[in-house]
Amino acid sequence: MKIVVCMKETPSTEVKKELGTDMRLVRNPQDAIINPFDEYTIEEGLRLQEKHGGEVVILTMSPAQTTDNIRKAMAMGADRAVVVADPSLAGSDALATGRVLAAALQKIGFDIVLFGQGTADSNGGVVPSITAEYLQLPLLSLATKLTIDGETAVIERSAEVGYVKVEAKLPLVVSVSKSINQPRYPSMKGIMSAKKKPLETLTLADLGLAANQAGSAAAHDKVLAAESVSTQRKREIFVGNDGAAQRIFDFLSDNKII
Ligand SMILES: Cc1cc2nc3c(=O)[nH]c(=O)nc-3n(C[C@H](O)[C@H](O)[C@H](O)COP(=O)(O)OP(=O)(O)OC[C@H]3O[C@@H](n4cnc5c(N)ncnc54)[C@H](O)[C@@H]3O)c2cc1C
Repeated sequence: MKIVVCMKETPSTEVKKELGTDMRLVRNPQDAIINPFDEYTIEEGLRLQEKHGGEVVILTMSPAQTTDNIRKAMAMGADRAVVVADPSLAGSDALATGRVLAAALQKIGFDIVLFGQGTADSNGGVVPSITAEYLQLPLLSLATKLTIDGETAVIERSAEVGYVKVEAKLPLVVSVSKSINQPRYPSMKGIMSAKKKPLETLTLADLGLAANQAGSAAAHDKVLAAESVSTQRKREIFVGNDGAAQRIFDFLSDNKII
């Protein structure tokens, strides 16, 4: 089975995000991490391979041609990676991202494409559906469980009460929710072998796309403003035991927690 995992690099959740005057996120390569949601996507791809054989290919559209994060994904166990990197990608919106990923997926070939549920930076959550639409393939979205039986994929998706079960035939696109699995850590053997695994770089021209089909030239949405929210929490610190239990009890009681 040919499994392609779409992975985005996002700025570390630890660093302060900054927008440039063009309202684009300032991306420092040294601060980039694997989009936390995509660690679950990679894990699910590896689990599918363990059950059904075949290969796991990481696909990313990234400002950098090769990064530690792509190597980390391969250290987790992926067989190879394809990076779409081209100066004309700057300013791409989600629509253009889906167009570029779909073109790359057609070039790579696949039985199943896996996406995460969203990203730690833009978190539009729409790239999986846009890509599926460009590919004209079914999308089984927000899977909390994924099984493949022959030519059929079945997912479970959490609903208000319980879950829904949906199936579709391969080839298809699946987006996974972060409750689907527990991602593994790369092993020392994986880290060593990742250095030698193939990494292919594609440009827009390699995908048969013109420069004006991606990047700011093709963007339909524009970021108008962004504001950070205060994460400062109200807190009270008790030093020593004197009266602390009563104050905690009063606090819980006043807030109708108990
Ligand atoms: C050089 C460069 C510059 C860019 N500039 C801008 C910009 O100025 N403004 C802007 O809006 N966007 C820009 N983008 C695109 C942007 O980073 C996102 O990829 C895109 O907007 C998707 O939005 P999202 O993060 O909300 O994805 P979501 O829909 O939340 O992502 C869901 C899932 O889709 C997959 N996915 C998303 N993005 C990628 C990707 N790039 N590669 C592989 N898989 C992916 C992941 O599996 C992810 O879990 C740029 C991209 C590049 C490479």
